[in-house]
Amino acid sequence: MKKIGVLTSGGDAPGMNAAVRAVVRTAVHGGAEVLGIERGYHGLMHGQVRPMGAASVGGIINLGGTILRTARDSVFKTEEGRRMAARVIEEHGIEGLAIIGGDGSFRGALELNRTCGVKVVGIPGTIDNDILGTQYSIGFDTAVNTAITAIDKIRDTSASHDRVFVVEVMGRHNGFIALEVGIGAGAEAVLVPECGRDLVSLCRKLQAGQGRGKMSCIIVVAEGAASASDIATTITQITGIETRISVLGHIQRGGNPSARDRFLATRFGHRAAELLLEGRTNLMVGIEMGQVVELPLERVVAGRRDLDTSLLALVEVMSI
Ligand code: ADP
Repeated sequence: MKKIGVLTSGGDAPGMNAAVRAVVRTAVHGGAEVLGIERGYHGLMHGQVRPMGAASVGGIINLGGTILRTARDSVFKTEEGRRMAARVIEEHGIEGLAIIGGDGSFRGALELNRTCGVKVVGIPGTIDNDILGTQYSIGFDTAVNTAITAIDKIRDTSASHDRVFVVEVMGRHNGFIALEVGIGAGAEAVLVPECGRDLVSLCRKLQAGQGRGKMSCIIVVAEGAASASDIATTITQITGIETRISVLGHIQRGGNPSARDRFLATRFGHRAAELLLEGRTNLMVGIEMGQVVELPLERVVAGRRDLDTSLLALVEVMSI
């Protein structure tokens, strides 16, 4: 394969730049040319491409976001949109594409392969960590660390003022971030969309804790489970305990990627480029038991990774 394109798509995640760098340098090392495609499939449809050499990805391994920018474009979901992209692919002689994004981006990759036969390899990049076939996706570790750092600061106030804090973290559809943040930050409770919430027993636990002199506590809630303000209001109504809320929001998406995410992104980008150079297609790279693996994209988009909800029991034991 002589010409490879690389794009980032869907929600941005810290570590995407490290993956772009690894794709570019591996492809150049293998004797291929690389084109960077800006703004995901939107840029692909509109010919927003630029050549990328080894030097063009210097000084980005440490940067959050994505230097290629990212976008969501519903036109690409139509046959006409993908034909526009196919024309650009043909015009530029792109033989393979490395797509860094989530499962929506991978569905788009499969459709594009069906439309014009371009070879596609996906690299999981999303802070949500919900992609089937990989234990970790790029950005998750950084997002969890960012949230834990924020809660460490909140804990200072919580402890000084004897306050119950309800902290809302990202996770519209699942509790991956909430669970790891909750365990890592030492939260008293974690509420995730996968499990029903029993606020009455949570309130009893808070009151029992106060009876023992445990006056401050942190409750982590995934945005998809409930809003922090609803939970805080209900706790106050049931117990009379004063509460405060903090919605961490987009700070969880940004910032310099953690060491783990840089390492993961470099391994993923390297393997994805190797697969394209070998002429392979319709695959995603992932990590299982510390090893980089590859698996069919069809299998990846057929479902979502399930949260191990048995780990919620750990929160209970750790917060006695
Ligand atoms: P993510 O990749 O993070 O899951 P999205 O679901 O927003 O993000 O997908 C990113 C882009 O991928 C969309 O804007 C769209 O252009 C493309 N895409 C998503 N789903 C499909 C699909 N079913 N068919 C074709 N393209 C899709």
